[in-house]
Amino acid sequence: MTSIERVDIAVIGAGLGGAAAMALLDQAGFSVHTFEQAPEFTRLGAGIHIGPNVMKIFREIGLEDRLASIGSHPDHWFSRDGNTGEYLSRIRLGDFALKEYGAPYITIHRGDMHAVQIEALPQDRVHFGYKLTDIVERDGDVLLTFENGEKIAAGLVIGADGINSAIREKLLGPEKPRFSGWIGHRALVNVDKLRASGLEFEACVKWWWEASRHIMAYDTKRDGSEYYYVTGVPVDGWEHDAPFVESSREEMEAIFGNSHPEVNALIAATEEVTKWPFWNRDPLNLWSRGRLCLLGDACHPMRPHMAQGACMAIEDAAVLSRCLTETGETGYADAFRMYEAARRERATKVQTISNANTWLKEPEDPAWVYAYDPMTVALG
Ligand code: FAD
Repeated sequence: MTSIERVDIAVIGAGLGGAAAMALLDQAGFSVHTFEQAPEFTRLGAGIHIGPNVMKIFREIGLEDRLASIGSHPDHWFSRDGNTGEYLSRIRLGDFALKEYGAPYITIHRGDMHAVQIEALPQDRVHFGYKLTDIVERDGDVLLTFENGEKIAAGLVIGADGINSAIREKLLGPEKPRFSGWIGHRALVNVDKLRASGLEFEACVKWWWEASRHIMAYDTKRDGSEYYYVTGVPVDGWEHDAPFVESSREEMEAIFGNSHPEVNALIAATEEVTKWPFWNRDPLNLWSRGRLCLLGDACHPMRPHMAQGACMAIEDAAVLSRCLTETGETGYADAFRMYEAARRERATKVQTISNANTWLKEPEDPAWVYAYDPMTVALG
């Protein structure tokens, strides 16, 4: 429990976007506190791609080198036919990304990345066990009520609280996200079994089948000691209440069996695999009102097929922090307007392409995503 009664800026949610927002706002000199519903930090398992567009933000926060030393640096994003192995595209990353886009492209365990982000925050201002349950907009501030009984007034509130955002609900009313019709299986595979197959496994490869079914497979550690995959599979519905359920190697074989030998070996090396529904919303028509403002999945959730959802959340955090720095806290109305003007088109475009699941399937120039620099992009 804290004895805080008022904070200047409250960030709701210490996920990947909220942690970035807090780091940047703190660095800019704002008095900012983050409130997270989870009782403590946990290393949630899965891989994540972080593009050069976002490594530039981590450079600003002072975490680029640390993350670059943990994550894998693929030379390419390959797209391949899941049956024949034919190369559909070879997108250059590695040294090319460093030179052309201004920062490395890494793939990393998201728990490792999140831990680095959380550890770097001022610990006395990150509050775990604070689930926001009520929001009252008042003349000079916003009164936040948490499930643990605490009530805290905030000058500004940033909703970085994910797809089921309480802040989004306050702005736009209750509305459950829509099931996208797609699920993803996620597994960290047994690397010894992979090696025993005698085959080579590329550091970052997306295998494609008909109807855009796919497996995205990649290293999550620089030393190659961890290999991860996430699938995308259309299904008729999602009948479970849980955020994810167990799957099995047999289920993977039933969906992807008799494919290219590397895919078969990947599935054979699968010991534990879970499956996750992908939820979605249409682009929101309101990003902020009064002292409340949204970022990340709270604002523009998407199916994950472009590997840019968290990147957009962190980009939002960077641009929002720059806008507030320019206007000062009292100029928040202008800051929120500038933020939306700078972010809406790009975030919506990424959301649309990610949902369409076409990204890098065929040769294309990804510079508009990766060369973007959220720390220098013009603000309106
Ligand atoms: P979240 O990460 O959802 O964080 C929200 C936080 O708010 C959570 O910690 C939650 O506990 C907290 N919270 C929620 N409600 C409350 C409340 N009422 N009070 C207090 N706290 C609350 N993105 C990429 O960039 N690259 C990838 O490679 C990639 N791969 C993906 C693969 C899969 C299978 C999936 C599902 C997603 C992937 N994404 C990827 C997308 C990425 O995970 C999300 O876009 C990202 O996590 C959004 O970050 P966020 O901070 O907005 O929200």
